This record gives sequence, C-alpha cells and structure tokens, in this order.
Amino acid sequence: MNARTLNTLLQYGVTSDLATKANSAGLTVTKARSLSQKDMVSKFGLSAAEAKILSHCVRREPIDEQIVQLLLERSNFVCSMCKGQKGPSYIIHHIIEHEKTQDNTYNNLIVLCPVDHDLAHRGGLTLSLTESQLRTTKEKWEQQVEVENAQKAARLIQVNDDAIDYINVKRIEELCVRLFKEIPQTTLTANLRRTGTLGADGSFDQKYVQTNLSGGRYLFDYITHQEAEHYKQLMQEIATVTTFIDLDETANAGYAELKASEGCYAFFIGGVCAKGPDLPITASTPTILLHYSRRHLRIEWILDPIFMMSMSAITRIGGKNRYIIYCLVRTVDLQADKTNLVRASPLLIAQPNKWVNKTPAIAYERQYAEYIDDDSSDDGADDAQPDGAGDAVQ
Ligand SMILES: [Zn+2]
Repeated sequence: MNARTLNTLLQYGVTSDLATKANSAGLTVTKARSLSQKDMVSKFGLSAAEAKILSHCVRREPIDEQIVQLLLERSNFVCSMCKGQKGPSYIIHHIIEHEKTQDNTYNNLIVLCPVDHDLAHRGGLTLSLTESQLRTTKEKWEQQVEVENAQKAARLIQVNDDAIDYINVKRIEELCVRLFKEIPQTTLTANLRRTGTLGADGSFDQKYVQTNLSGGRYLFDYITHQEAEHYKQLMQEIATVTTFIDLDETANAGYAELKASEGCYAFFIGGVCAKGPDLPITASTPTILLHYSRRHLRIEWILDPIFMMSMSAITRIGGKNRYIIYCLVRTVDLQADKTNLVRASPLLIAQPNKWVNKTPAIAYERQYAEYIDDDSSDDGADDAQPDGAGDAVQ
C-alpha cells in the first residue's frame, strides 16, 4: 500500500496509526464508507472502537490534501505540543471543533499526537489545551522546524549549482588539503582536467584559465556549470568532517559565544548588501565589501571580484541579496557602540533554496493564505519580500 492512501485517511482526521492499520489491511475510504462497522472488524481486523472512529471520520468533508501535506511538513511530522515525545503517531486536529464550524482551513488545523489530541478534546479547565495554547504552540513549533530545516540544508551544502555566485577556489582547495591532505576527486574532476581548468594535482589552474579560456578578464567567462558543481561537491566533502556553525544563531547567543567562533567555519543566511565593482574587472579592481547589519551586529565579508561566478552574479552583487554565505570567521570585536563586528572570509556564496522568513508574525496568516492559494506551493511562495531586504533591516 502506498503513502497516498495513507494521506487520504489523514485528510479525514484519522490518526496515523489507524490510517496505517486500515491502509495495510486494504481498507480504503470508499470501502470504509460502504462497510458496516461489524464488517470492518471481521473482515479488516479493526477493533470495534477503531471501526467506530473510522466509520464516523470518513463521512466528513476531507481536509485538502495540500493542506495536510503542508501541516505535516511544517511540523516535521510530529505533534506540535510534545514534538513527538509522547509517541510517533499523529492526527490532524481541528482547533475549533469540527462539529462546530467544519472549518478545514490551515489556520484551524494542528498536528497532534493521540495523547495531546485527547487533552485538546477534554472539557474542563485544568488539564485541557485551550485554543490559544494550540495556536501559539503551533506557530512557535513551525518556526523552530523552519529554522532547523534551513540549518540542516545549509550544513549539507544543499544549494543549486546555478544559484552559486561566488567561489573562492583557492580557499576551498587549501581547506581540502588541510583536511584530507589532497583535493578529493569529484564527479567533474576528470572533465575539468581535460579542459585544463584543473592541473595535475586537481587544483584550479588560474593562469591557464585566464590565458587560454577566459580572454584574460573574468575567470568564469567561458563557464559551464561544471566548476560550480565541482566546488560544491568539494564543500560537501568538507562538510562531512567540519561543522559549519550558524553565524546568525551564534550572534544571537551574545558576544562571548560569538567571540569563541573565531577560527570556526560558519554559514550565514540573510539579506546582505554591497557596492558592485566597476567594470571591467582587472587585476587592480578593489575588493568588494559585502555586509550585513542589524542592531548590535555587523558582519563583513571581503570578496575578491575575480571569483565572481558570472556576469549576472557581478551585476547582482551590487545591491541587496538574500544569500547563504559559507565562510571562515576571522575576528570578532566589540565596538564602542556595543556593536559586535564580525569579519569573515567567504568560501562560497549562493542564493539559498531554504531560509527562515523573518517577517513579523502579523504576516503569518496572510502568508499561509497566499501559500495555499498558490498552486505551485514551492519554497519561494512563503516569503513576502522577494528581494531579501526584510532580514537586513530588522
Ligand atoms: Zn503530543
């Protein structure tokens, strides 16, 4: 049996346990509607209580499939109250009782385990879960899951090759040699050796590329996506033995924590600004200062314009961008105005495919309304500010 049938049962407010049981017994929604409870017990092995619940649930209007999927993903497939501590089974619960309003919209639904589901349905004041408790907990948990998912994606270097704007090939190679005593082979190494991009030891042959491939100007003028993919794979190798700390999270922990990150490898996801370089880029083009600022925090990255990955990246850098920046934290200094000044050297900069939306909670309901309306339901739709400026100004 498949996940689709399982999800269909979840749409009717059945617990995942019961859905799995019915599912593996071959009991579909259609069958459950036409069968007597007695038959469900005798022919499909349900208990009398389970048959009663199932028979009741499948007569409801089902919750939209996309809403179920979104709820489950955004709560990491566990109960929003206990985060799965009380067991792995879950159920889609109506915050305002289904019997009262039949409201199947995102805002009226929450993922709960059967134990917390019972608490939510319990009348009385002492032990029951109130509507506002459920809503607050749901919102907080979804934000936490969002942060964790973005961190996880970042630590696994999950970025799209064609969204990589900057690669400091030298620093990545130096780090490889330090960690592995050599530059590991990637699926592109052989190809890039053949074209002369990489030398015999697997390192980037800057002189050859500039003389023979790029007309002496931009390293990546002639580019295919092979270089981006090659260095991304090297970063993924590095990530197997090095932990990239979340620079934003570290900064939130205060000066001491941030100071201790000197010499660490980190990633940062957020809205950053820079003044673009004058064109054309030559050997004497000054470095680019990329920075992020908020109250009591300023992070600065110095970019060598030669390592910009494309003409469009060069154009893009001179403005506001939402980026994921992998870097080495060089220094952390507490300024007289109490600003923590972080200076870091970037290894790789890309447009992230996962990030945390930091727009205020007031936009919460509207965002979900938009998300649900938007059929594509891809990652981009959950952000109200596509230019990434929102993160930088808070
Ligand atoms: Zn629970």
